[in-house]
Amino acid sequence: QTSKNFLITGVGGYIAPRHLKAIKETNNKLVAAYDPNDSVGILDNYFPHAFYFNSYERFERFISKRNDIDYLTICSPNYLHDTQIRLALHNNINAICEKPIVLFPHNLDLLEKLEENTKKNVFTIMQLRYHPQIIFLKEKIGTKKKYEVELKYITPRGNWYHYSWKGDETKSGGIVMNIGIHLFDLMIYLFGKAVAVEVNQRDFDKASGYIEFDNAFVKWFLSIDEKDLPNNISKTNKRTLRSLKMDNNEIEFSDGFQDLHTLVYQNILVGKGLRIKDARPSIELVDKIRNAKIKR
Ligand code: NAD
Repeated sequence: QTSKNFLITGVGGYIAPRHLKAIKETNNKLVAAYDPNDSVGILDNYFPHAFYFNSYERFERFISKRNDIDYLTICSPNYLHDTQIRLALHNNINAICEKPIVLFPHNLDLLEKLEENTKKNVFTIMQLRYHPQIIFLKEKIGTKKKYEVELKYITPRGNWYHYSWKGDETKSGGIVMNIGIHLFDLMIYLFGKAVAVEVNQRDFDKASGYIEFDNAFVKWFLSIDEKDLPNNISKTNKRTLRSLKMDNNEIEFSDGFQDLHTLVYQNILVGKGLRIKDARPSIELVDKIRNAKIKR
């Protein structure tokens, strides 16, 4: 396989290093990076020779002059994803976009049309689907039975969260979209289509409810409040709890979540990446959850 040329947006942020690492580990090259904030020294650890732009217009001009770029990796805030995907596809470049691809399902329709017109693809990152424990579980579950499931997803964030774009619902979609998307995509992956949705709580730092899937009744709880961590966990250094109880067996998948981006890239590069059609069900489910009447 010949080496591919990459661009990246949002290179100064929290998640970008995992993409830089994945590009490097799959023997590809970063040609240029864009981030309006210039704290981008991380580039030296991976691709010191890449061009860097802090002006969108200059980045756009650079892209329009090149015809050797294969992928644009998008690590910018959620509400900017679709416009940066269009920048890629309009310039004959595939997009690899962090989750969630968009904040509202209808925006996916336009992107799918654009994929058709440009013959370029949009790939997404839902790395939990590549988690070995989850793959094992999916095989075990099958489709013959309807399970009783309790899913807890507690991943504390500090005070800063609420002051950043992530705490702004119009930019992140709120916690059910920004963080919950992992949990809801996982449920759909494991248990099939969501057929009924009930929301019992939906606050800025926690939410809970009940969803019936083809193969499970799931009681779910999502929180970024550290007070929700069980005592035995907050005493260890672990700061997250991802736990799934199925017919009273508990499966913990808090570990191994961080190191899956390279695996995701390997799949994309051989044409097996996750596409809009794979991302749509969880974005639609979150949209339902965001709009549901709260039932206490
Ligand atoms: P972040 O706030 O740490 O970084 C975002 C970066 O984007 C910043 O450097 C910021 O300067 C830059 N930025 C702001 N406006 C921009 C613009 N117009 N164009 C390009 N860049 C711009 O956020 P993050 O945690 O790195 O999240 C980035 C993306 O990754 C989000 O979509 C988020 O949902 C996703 N994410 C995914 C995972 C995962 O587990 N897969 C984890 C965290 C974040």
